Amino acid sequence: MQHFRSNIFNPVSATKADFLADHVLSFDGEKIHSIIPFRDFTGAWEDYRQYIMLPGLIDLHVHLSQYRIRGLYEPDLLPWLKRNVFPEEMRSSEPSFARRLSQDFYRALLKFGTTFSVIYTAPYRQAAEIAFEVAREMGIRAKIGMTMMDMNAPEGLLQSTDYALKHSIELSEIWDNPFLGYIFTPRFAPSCSEALMRETGKYAAKHHSFIQTHLSENLDEIAWVKEIFGRSSYTKVYADFGILGPRTILGHAIHLSETELDLLKNSGSAIAHCPDSNFYLKSGEYPLNLISDKGIPFALGSDVGAGTTLNMLYHAKQMNFRQSTSPVLPPQMLYHITLGSAKILGLQDRIGSLNADKDADFILLKPPQGFDIGGHSLSQICFMSEDFEISRVFVQGQDMTVKS
Ligand SMILES: [Zn+2]
Repeated sequence: MQHFRSNIFNPVSATKADFLADHVLSFDGEKIHSIIPFRDFTGAWEDYRQYIMLPGLIDLHVHLSQYRIRGLYEPDLLPWLKRNVFPEEMRSSEPSFARRLSQDFYRALLKFGTTFSVIYTAPYRQAAEIAFEVAREMGIRAKIGMTMMDMNAPEGLLQSTDYALKHSIELSEIWDNPFLGYIFTPRFAPSCSEALMRETGKYAAKHHSFIQTHLSENLDEIAWVKEIFGRSSYTKVYADFGILGPRTILGHAIHLSETELDLLKNSGSAIAHCPDSNFYLKSGEYPLNLISDKGIPFALGSDVGAGTTLNMLYHAKQMNFRQSTSPVLPPQMLYHITLGSAKILGLQDRIGSLNADKDADFILLKPPQGFDIGGHSLSQICFMSEDFEISRVFVQGQDMTVKS
């Protein structure tokens, strides 16, 4: 059993985070045994009194295959895909490249304190398999999917409908653990045929599998979807083809009508909100209040490579900054990179906050010199995370700290 004496911020809801000053978190193997005030504790302990502890962070939407093209600028989704993303994703067809990329990517996730993530890989079975294998070797926990595209993709990335379906299903049968498991990953409606989406939706519903895709990110994209499928809206395409449901995570969801919001709400689908990416590509402002008022669950994704960093505390700040009129408060910022994300994944009994019997997934932040640790500190962590060093990272009680 290990005992860490520190100061803990623990998310409770979108409006509340507890501050536990001078507490001892005890963990035994993979699980948290107890969290108690130091004054009630007896025995030996490790001293992290000058640190702040948070639950491990969660990234709900990230592209492994785009990790190396962060910051290559092109301020519009469709030209950016063509110019930067597609040529880069082709490089993952080479196994040695895919392996090295996976290693670098996971190491960077850990460096930023991300202990669970939901990942898109390039549209090659082997690249997805390598992503899983390297994750297992490194102790990474994630949902991972091979991006599917059976139309409107350049040669070299274009899959046949059979290839996309068959390999996705096989991978989902092999990788079926909720903590290192498959997520069906149609890239977005313009690159997926009706048949592919229908079969994916049917299979995923039958097997209670997760699905991730992108929705209504960019106005040209939306016009293109209308042209291809002729439905009344982008959301209606997914609704008609069986993509929506309580285990579906939709990236972006920026430009939505009231009818679309109702479709999303009634289906139980969740949104991965990616504010950094949305402003990088000038896609638009996320209708946070409309979506909150409607009661549609959402949490934050880095959307690397359109997102510029894997640092989820930075994305929490962007969630605030990318609302032009409504303030987003620190407890909400923390919630959407921890417990709120865990709930969308159905993993809230294990991860997302720190409680006895949950997994010992936590990070220790070292504040800047002369910093006063107190209940006010959450705000500073959320708005000036670059001044805090992520000193230690634990996943299931294992020290996963990246030594630089
Ligand atoms: Zn994305």
